[in-house]
Amino acid sequence: MSDIKNVVIIGSGPAGYTAAIYTARAMLKPLLITGNMKGGQLITTSDIENFPGYVNGIEGPKMMEELHQQAERFGTEYLDNEMVISVETSEKPFKIKTTNKEILTHSIIIATGASSIWLNAENESFLRSNGISTCATCDGAFFKGEDLIVVGGGDSAMEEAIFLTRYANKVTIVHRREEFRASKIMLERAKSNSKIEFKTNFNVKKWLVNEQKELIGALVENSKKVDETETIDCTGAFIAIGHNPNTNFIKDQIETNKNGYIINKNNSMMTSVSGIFSCGDVCESSQSYKQAITAAGEGCRAAMDCEKWLEEKNV
Ligand code: NAP
Repeated sequence: MSDIKNVVIIGSGPAGYTAAIYTARAMLKPLLITGNMKGGQLITTSDIENFPGYVNGIEGPKMMEELHQQAERFGTEYLDNEMVISVETSEKPFKIKTTNKEILTHSIIIATGASSIWLNAENESFLRSNGISTCATCDGAFFKGEDLIVVGGGDSAMEEAIFLTRYANKVTIVHRREEFRASKIMLERAKSNSKIEFKTNFNVKKWLVNEQKELIGALVENSKKVDETETIDCTGAFIAIGHNPNTNFIKDQIETNKNGYIINKNNSMMTSVSGIFSCGDVCESSQSYKQAITAAGEGCRAAMDCEKWLEEKNV
């Protein structure tokens, strides 16, 4: 039975790596399936200033590389660049199918996080990664000296806009309401940045393009007066309006809320399926927090719950 894993962790953000560190230190020899974007969302984050222990902050990719090495040090095995396609939960051990492999495991920790939501305004589909992006850290440097738009009113929108001022001539934050979800500190930082302008109570209705199908602006509509539209010139745009949970491979077999976030049971990190745990941004419980530190904390809890469950089941 040595080919059956004790625990497979799916996802390589702070939740997944923390679960790996804890289960590896508990001698469970975890296998961590990293997915195509090793390191998760933080791989596209510039400076993380609010993770305790880093006096001067740390760059997202550096933190993720260190977490990877830390989990490896205690014996975590990695399966890189493979996506989980499905999980069979009806029989035990569970069977995980990835792009190229089938893996049997007694328990699973899901830490797959969430993916950026696109606005889907007119013309957006062909401008994706060709003028419109959801990741300033990845693509900001392509827009030196240009006028840009950031859509959204949360911390992500503020962070993206502030980051983009390193390169851009001007950044206009277009937000559909007057009030912001962003934290006060992030909003104040954006407001005090001379390169950032705000356009509140407006929705992007259409991305405007020239004859070469290059982005040249946005047609925005007043969210309070339907027929009032304006044009904002821009040659690049960044969408920062939230995320969708990455649960496609299992969502029909596990309890989720109406938005697809996994519901854990009984004040633990165990899902509706005994032996399957979830942690981090993929969980309903993390929706009010969504921080690297809370994801890491949940990864620890999931690992400890999983360890206890395996011990009780004597596997
Ligand atoms: P969020 O807080 O959910 O904000 C999403 C924003 O997008 C909201 O302003 C929302 O508008 C807007 N929006 C949603 N759908 C839209 C649509 N179809 N059209 C136009 N606008 C739309 O998401 P987030 O900014 O990604 O942040 C998620 C979590 O991560 C938060 O807890 C945040 O604090 C955290 N975070 C922290 C940091 C940091 O500390 N450095 C950085 C990034 C994120 P409404 O307000 O009108 O709904």
